[in-house]
Amino acid sequence: MLRIDNEKCNACGLCVKSCPFGAIDVNDEVARANELCTLCGACVNVCPQAALEIERRQVSLEELAQYRGVFIWAECESRDARDTPKKVAYEILTQGRRMADKLGEQLCAVVLGNDRLSEIENLCYHGADRVLSCRHELLGHYSSDGFTSVLSAVIAKEKPSIVLYGATPNGRDLAPRVAARMHLGLTADCTELGIDEQGQLIQTRPAFGGNIMATIISPYTRPQTATVRPNVFAAAESDPTRPVVIEEVPVTLSKANIRTRLIEEIRLESEAEKIDEARILVSAGRGCQDQVNLDTIRKLARKLGGTLAGSRAIVELGWIPHSLQVGQSGTTVGPDLYFAIGISGAVQHVVGMSSSKKIIAINKDPDAPIFKIADLGIVGDALVIIPKLIEEIERIKVQ
Ligand SMILES: Cc1cc2nc3c(=O)[nH]c(=O)nc-3n(C[C@H](O)[C@H](O)[C@H](O)COP(=O)(O)OP(=O)(O)OC[C@H]3O[C@@H](n4cnc5c(N)ncnc54)[C@H](O)[C@@H]3O)c2cc1C
Repeated sequence: MLRIDNEKCNACGLCVKSCPFGAIDVNDEVARANELCTLCGACVNVCPQAALEIERRQVSLEELAQYRGVFIWAECESRDARDTPKKVAYEILTQGRRMADKLGEQLCAVVLGNDRLSEIENLCYHGADRVLSCRHELLGHYSSDGFTSVLSAVIAKEKPSIVLYGATPNGRDLAPRVAARMHLGLTADCTELGIDEQGQLIQTRPAFGGNIMATIISPYTRPQTATVRPNVFAAAESDPTRPVVIEEVPVTLSKANIRTRLIEEIRLESEAEKIDEARILVSAGRGCQDQVNLDTIRKLARKLGGTLAGSRAIVELGWIPHSLQVGQSGTTVGPDLYFAIGISGAVQHVVGMSSSKKIIAINKDPDAPIFKIADLGIVGDALVIIPKLIEEIERIKVQ
């Protein structure tokens, strides 16, 4: 809680100005905090009288020691009427394995779904010591209420020390809800994870527009929870010799617990599908000059068996939907091949595609930052180069 020392407070009002949540007001010559306070500490840092202090409940070592093990939420997606783990589940499982080994603890994957759940033994082949399978007819599709209730109950019972989620749309919804319900810390969108000497989870994520990397720990609460960007970490190879341990967890859930209803599922058009899982991405930037030129870029993508994507600049121009935006405020991608066409290489773009296996950049500016991370750079006018490239691909295909 935020403690304000009335003896020291001189009602200068600096804390009021510094509070981003409007949680402090000055009445009767003293500052008072209200329920909007998030304990962010901004007011403490500005008070010239040192009148403010955040009092946190110190967790004893005995309490911390009750929490053991690394859990990941293995999100599943529908394929051919079955629900199987998403690619990101294997990526975070691999990180979870690394941390569990460092801590000398178990790695557990939690899956939520109904009878369509399948291939969950693959989670053991990719590193899980056990899978907790929570099946219920009301978990057949994602709902914030249903998934939060069930996962919170599993966490409360099992007491893991770390819980990781993929930073997918559902993961970004579920993780903060569970954290709020259980009063936990949460770091969103991590791009690096580690364990420090005290066994705490080190969570690193870009901050301030990607210009700095912030390293965050959660010393006061357990489990420590984080969402992890898809396509940042590689998934380990499957090892089918690993033992499969699947435990069915009884689930109690009723329709009354879930405030939302699924009315209809609308599949995205093929182009807008899953740039995060595409093997080849052909990404266009403002340097493509005009929306009509995207037809040629799209043609190149088709010829290569790839998918069109783009920078935020062309999303803001209305040339492509946000679902195709690569970068910090779009999607993080990790294809085998990434074409950056007329893209300058701003840090917010690069942070979303730098884990691509091969990067080919076409830009007429030889000093464009994108060339610093490109495996192959072509300096020139993309509007001239792309048609020639398409011609050449067609020629090779005919041969
Ligand atoms: C908080 C925040 C979040 C952001 N999130 C994202 C994000 O998720 N994704 C993202 O992409 N951006 C993001 N941005 C914006 C980012 O900073 C850049 O403004 C954006 O990436 C620039 O897009 P661009 O490279 O297409 O355009 P520009 O920076 O305008 O670059 C155009 C490039 O095209 C080249 N060019 C021009 N004509 C030609 C030609 N005929 N042939 C070849 N090359 C040519 C130019 O030399 C130039 O390098 C974010 C910004 C902020 C502040």
